[in-house]
Amino acid sequence: MSATENLGANAETLGFQTEVKQLLHLMIHSLYSNKEIFLRELISNASDAEDKLRFEALSNDALYENDGDLKIRLDFDKDANTVTITDNGIGMTREDVINHLGTIAKSGTAEFMSKLTGDSKQDSQLIGQFGVGFYSAFIVANKVEVFTRRAGTDAAQGVHWSSEGEGEFTIETVERTARGTSIVLHLKEEESEFADGWRLRSLVKKYSDHISFPVIMKSEPMPAAEGEEQKEPEDEAINEATALWTLSKSEISEDDYKSFYKHISHDFQDPLTWAHNRVEGKLDYTSLLYIPAKAPFDLYNREVPRGLKLYVQRVFIMDEAEQFLPLYLRFVKGIVDTRDLSLNVSREILQSDKTVDSLRTALTKRVLDTLTKMAKNDAEKYQSFWDEFGQVIKEGIGEDLSNKEKLAKLLRFATTNGDSAQNVSLDDYVSRMQESQDKIYYISAESHAAGISSPHMEIFRKKGIEVLVLSDRIDGWMISYLSDFEGKHLQDITKGELDLGEIEAEEDKKQQEEANKTYEALVKQIKELLEDKVDEVRMTNRLTDSPACLVAGAHDMDAQMKKIMEAAGQPVPESKPSFELNPEHPLVAQLNNEQDDERFNDLTLVLFDQAALAMGDQLKEPGAFVNRLNKLLLDLSK
Ligand code: ADP
Repeated sequence: MSATENLGANAETLGFQTEVKQLLHLMIHSLYSNKEIFLRELISNASDAEDKLRFEALSNDALYENDGDLKIRLDFDKDANTVTITDNGIGMTREDVINHLGTIAKSGTAEFMSKLTGDSKQDSQLIGQFGVGFYSAFIVANKVEVFTRRAGTDAAQGVHWSSEGEGEFTIETVERTARGTSIVLHLKEEESEFADGWRLRSLVKKYSDHISFPVIMKSEPMPAAEGEEQKEPEDEAINEATALWTLSKSEISEDDYKSFYKHISHDFQDPLTWAHNRVEGKLDYTSLLYIPAKAPFDLYNREVPRGLKLYVQRVFIMDEAEQFLPLYLRFVKGIVDTRDLSLNVSREILQSDKTVDSLRTALTKRVLDTLTKMAKNDAEKYQSFWDEFGQVIKEGIGEDLSNKEKLAKLLRFATTNGDSAQNVSLDDYVSRMQESQDKIYYISAESHAAGISSPHMEIFRKKGIEVLVLSDRIDGWMISYLSDFEGKHLQDITKGELDLGEIEAEEDKKQQEEANKTYEALVKQIKELLEDKVDEVRMTNRLTDSPACLVAGAHDMDAQMKKIMEAAGQPVPESKPSFELNPEHPLVAQLNNEQDDERFNDLTLVLFDQAALAMGDQLKEPGAFVNRLNKLLLDLSK
């Protein structure tokens, strides 16, 4: 902080937070082709400020200062090359200004900035999801001034903020009679096109037609008819100024819906889809819910406040009302306007209100139905949704038991039938099941490649049975909540004795019995050697190429979950795997014929450790494994 000498006594020059500097710099370059959005962003802020005033005035009428006519003014001055946006909303104190117009309050901003690449096309997409808000003024202006006064404070408490967007801003306390905020944009020379009445009007029409407050401009001077006097320009509202969601669907165009989305989300990409509903009856509400096209940069941070905008009887009550949707639908943007809550409802009340619970149930259903419909009617669109938001939908499987079936149908998996893309639904899988197959098979592995190359896959590959390949961090947790899908059990192929049921041919079963007989003594001998490490030893028909594998108990914790818990230092229940051997493999035959005890032990332990490695496990004594393996290799070369 450094006070500059020639400023007034209460003036100071402060530096922007580093992130703001970075944002300003990148924004100016990457948003150039979207530059006209600055107006939408500033009008959105003005509209929010009017909303906030109306809300606070519910309990303190004096805040209106005898002027309850809420509106936004838009002025321009061609000669001075300025555009001014003025609201008579809540305004800001000096402290507010410093906090809001010098820093970015979003958590994770620094991390977000580090993702920007300098490639303007890519960055503009990212910045779009981040939401640039006020700072977008600097795309078109080389100097921005803010004059503001918080509603209810006296005229001496006005604040003047000014910056050229280059690292610092100046702030001073000034006299200001008008409540609310004026933002003066000193346009760059090359952006003078915006200091034009027709241009501004068309932008307001295009982007801000359906905000709840009128945007007022002076009428354009019309050439006077002969013999008549030139009319003085008059104030006129240039937008519809009816809250979009209060209109009936037939009155709203696609573009209206899209621009309204951009207003409430600060996203400048179009939403993927939306659902607009009015409900009367036991519950009385209107909701307008949007599914964004791209995930926000902080989607996985479950702590970030988010939620719908809540209105009660058209009066804005609060932003980020998170009680109206479950956490796993945190990406949904939109508004809910209800008559069933009172105007003085608080966050605390929302947490334990029966009506809120009913609304939440209804809105959750809306979102899920919208997604289900999209999945049915436009698979490609749904796929793009899944690629962005699939991970959080998976959270729902464990968190929203009442909608589990709907959610299960929305899941998409990578399977052995394709590559690592998650694009197979459980319905698809079931429709492709083999005639006598009665289970849905899956493997949960650290990566897709690890899953595909697991020895446990061998029999499934041989028999052409499709297997779901789960490799997202959340999968192990999710699948523990999904034991069945439409009466079909989901079976982890690395757990429990393999039972392919009817798919297994009689012949296979016979072979299996024979193998058990042939290798009875071997199994016993191995079991004695590995007593501490394994629960059971048996011959298996699940392998075709590998000599051996490890199999977890049918009720053991998912291997991936176990690893995550271990990594987090949490206690994990002890469990020993079973060790299964492939009777067709020459190494197993060799083991059976091995007369030398030491070599028998070495070979067995190497097979055991190999099986653990193939599961992606860490060896407890990797050095011992290497020694044994080298000993066997040396024997080979003898
Ligand atoms: P966002 O609107 O996403 O919070 P912005 O950068 O646009 O981010 O604005 C930051 C904050 O500055 C706002 O949250 C609000 O508190 C304050 N602000 C911006 N414009 C106005 C305004 N016209 N009146 C009152 N407060 C405003």
